[in-house]
Amino acid sequence: MVPSSSSALERFLVHLEALFSISINDIRDMISRFHEDMQNGLADKDSSLKMLPSFVDVTTGREQGKFMALDLGGSNLRVLLVTLNGKGATEVSAVSKFAVPEQYMQGSGTALFDFIAECIHAFALEHHVDPRKPRNLALTFSFPVNQTAVKAGTLIVWTKGFTATGVAGKDIVRLLEEALKRRQLYGIHVAALTNDTVGTLMNRRYSDPSCDLGVIMGTGTNACYREVCGRIHKLKSPAPHDHMIINMEWGNFDKLYQTGYDQNLDALSVNPGAMFLEKMVSGMYLGEMVRIVLMDLIQSDLLFLDTPDVSSLFEKSGGVSTAHMSEIQSDQAPHLDKVDTFLKKSFGVGSRVQDRRALQRICQMVSTRAARLGAGAMAAVITWMDPQLIHPHTIAVDGSLYEKYTGFAVTIADTLKALYGEKADALSLVQTQDGSGVGAAIVAAVAASSRRQA
Ligand code: ADP
Ligand code: MG
Repeated sequence: MVPSSSSALERFLVHLEALFSISINDIRDMISRFHEDMQNGLADKDSSLKMLPSFVDVTTGREQGKFMALDLGGSNLRVLLVTLNGKGATEVSAVSKFAVPEQYMQGSGTALFDFIAECIHAFALEHHVDPRKPRNLALTFSFPVNQTAVKAGTLIVWTKGFTATGVAGKDIVRLLEEALKRRQLYGIHVAALTNDTVGTLMNRRYSDPSCDLGVIMGTGTNACYREVCGRIHKLKSPAPHDHMIINMEWGNFDKLYQTGYDQNLDALSVNPGAMFLEKMVSGMYLGEMVRIVLMDLIQSDLLFLDTPDVSSLFEKSGGVSTAHMSEIQSDQAPHLDKVDTFLKKSFGVGSRVQDRRALQRICQMVSTRAARLGAGAMAAVITWMDPQLIHPHTIAVDGSLYEKYTGFAVTIADTLKALYGEKADALSLVQTQDGSGVGAAIVAAVAASSRRQA
């Protein structure tokens, strides 16, 4: 006979699986709500999607030049030296990666930009780049910016755990240029300000004319796509080209069913009431969601029954990371030894196999929901551009969540297949690496070439 506690656990898990499941019908519903918000965002009406103009169209693949690129994501800062050969090929000749310490994410804006300038200086020293020689810098800035030109734009609001003061409402390019001056890096001039999604799209587009959607799935999630200017009703002055890339800021999409766990996670975040889709999909939040669900099972006396006062061990935010989840899900050993080790190491908890199995199932349901919602968002944009799916579309995806999470990319592809059937063959999902930084260099080159043409 099965002991009653394990059948109660099973019942709870089955209930959770239903709660977290996203059906194809849910996705169809999501797509139509996405379209409403896209439409409203493009017209400057009330919408959870900001639909921000980028002031560039896609690359022809023929632009040339050598650029320094700086990519500020959610967790890391990368500095690169990029050469564009004019024939669809890009070369990264130097790259340095810096972790952004929390003290700068959440301190003063001046300290954050001084830290960025310091990283550029360190990069220049490491790779023997003379910082006094004139050099164009392409900046990838992965936060919502109200752009007014290719190299001007103000931060609307911080996301992904950043709260640095005195930056919202200010021109990011000006702040960086001032910090470069303070660090006496006089040769470096900011040539373009780019969202990481735009960089990702451009990077792939340089060699692939079918690429028209750029997606980020890392610390946060967001996307951009190629829009017809006639549909961007909020443009104040006539656009210089027929098409323009739109940064959707889709992480803020909010027409989604939220479970009580989502509401908990939102309340515990630094930006409650915002970024609903991001909180269900992206790397910064998935581990925390697992911890919150675990807490509920623990408090219902369904897990770790051999450990007294176990809930206090799981109380603190941050104990489960998204990388841990991926590890946990990939454990195929009969007794889930990796999961056992994780629980011992991270929480000091001894577990039975059924506890480990439950944790694995929770990771599975949280990450599957994330991937399916991610696929739904992609499908919404593809159908907006091409309702009948007549043309080929390459979807360029950047971010460690997509790249490293066990089974994540496969679930996205499978969901698109389930949604579109054979027509899904028109879609190719391509992972790009350092795409956003290289792409910023391409944006700078496109901007320079359209200035020459003008
Ligand atoms: P950023 O978003 O800062 O540009 P990344 O694209 O590298 O940086 O994404 C970092 C995020 O990816 C981390 O916050 C984490 O959530 C997730 N991540 C990192 N490594 C892994 C991994 N091995 N498996 C799953 N997710 C991971
Ligand atoms: Mg990134």
